[in-house]
Amino acid sequence: MVDTAIIGTGPAGISAALTLKALKKEILLFGGAQLSEKIRVAEEIRNYPGLPAVSGMEMQMAFARQLREMEIPITEKTVTGIYHMGTHYGILCDQEMFEAKTVILATGVEAVKPIEGELEFVGRGVSYCATCDGFLYKGKTIAVLCTTKELEHEIEYLASLAERVYLMPLYKNVQVQAGNVEIIMAKPRRITGGMKADSLEVGERTLAVDGIFMLKQAVTPSVLLYGLECEEGHITVDRNCRTNLPGCFAAGDCTGRPYQYVKAAGEGNVAAHSAVEFLAGK
Ligand code: FAD
Repeated sequence: MVDTAIIGTGPAGISAALTLKALKKEILLFGGAQLSEKIRVAEEIRNYPGLPAVSGMEMQMAFARQLREMEIPITEKTVTGIYHMGTHYGILCDQEMFEAKTVILATGVEAVKPIEGELEFVGRGVSYCATCDGFLYKGKTIAVLCTTKELEHEIEYLASLAERVYLMPLYKNVQVQAGNVEIIMAKPRRITGGMKADSLEVGERTLAVDGIFMLKQAVTPSVLLYGLECEEGHITVDRNCRTNLPGCFAAGDCTGRPYQYVKAAGEGNVAAHSAVEFLAGK
C-alpha cells in the first residue's frame, strides 16, 4: 500500500507529486502520460512565475521533464472509483484495485455539466466507464456522449460490443471507425426511465436505449468517491485542502475558482503537506 494516491496529471497533481516525492513518500500518480489537456492547449501563459510567456506545449514539456528528473512515473490509468475503507482507500481503475493510506484528488473540472437525469441514474443505466461496464451491453443499443477525441478508443470498444451506438461527440473531427455508430451532432438534454435509464432526449428525438455512457475527462467528484462533500460541482475543502473524509485531500480546479495553473499548483503543494501531516498522525 502506498502512502498517497494522486488522481490527475494537471498542475495540481504534479505539484502534489513533486512535494510528496521530495518528502520521501511512496506515491502513485494516476492520469495521462501526456499530462492535462488543459496545459497543452493554452496558446500563451503569462501568469506562471518562472515561466514567462510560455506556450502550453512548453509548459507541458517543463512539467514532464521535472517529473522525469524526480523519477516520478505516471500510472497511466483512469480512476473509475475510490472507496473509503475506514483505515485506507481503495482506488479502482477498470478491474484493477490499488490501495493507498491517503488520496489527493486533483481531477480538474469538466466544462460539460451533468445533464438532467444523469446523476439520478448513475449505476442504473448510466455509466462513466466503458471498460468496466461495456460488457453489460453486448448486443444492445446504447448512447454515448463523449467530450474529447482522446476517448475515441473507448467509443470503438463499446461499438465492438453493442449492436447499435448513438454517438453524441462534443468535439470536432470525429474519427470513430465502426459501422454501427450513428453520429448525432447535438448535446443530449435529458435522461429518463423507471428503475433504469431507458431513453435519452436529444434535439427533437427521444432515443430508446439500454444504457448511456458519459465519456468525460473528469467525473463528478461525488460520483467518483461516495460520501465526498461537494458544493455546486466543486469539492468542499478547508484552507489545508482537507475534504470531509479523513485522509482525503483535494487541490486545483476541482476545489473551485479561480481556475488558474498557479492556484492549482499551490493547492497541490498544500494538499501534499496535509497528507504528510495526516500520515504522521497515523
Ligand atoms: P487539470 O489541468 O484539469 O488536470 C486534471 C487532470 O486529471 C486531467 O488530465 C484529467 O484528465 C485528469 N483526471 C480527471 N479525472 C481523472 C480520473 N478519474 N482518473 C485519472 N485522471 C483523471 N490558467 C492560467 O493560470 N493561465 C492561463 O493562461 C490559462 N490558460 C488556459 C487556456 C485554456 C485554453 C484552458 C482550457 C485553460 C487555461 N487555464 C489557464 C486554466 C488552467 O488550465 C487550469 O486552471 C489548470 O489546468 C487546472 O489544473 P488542475 O491540475 O486543477 O486540473
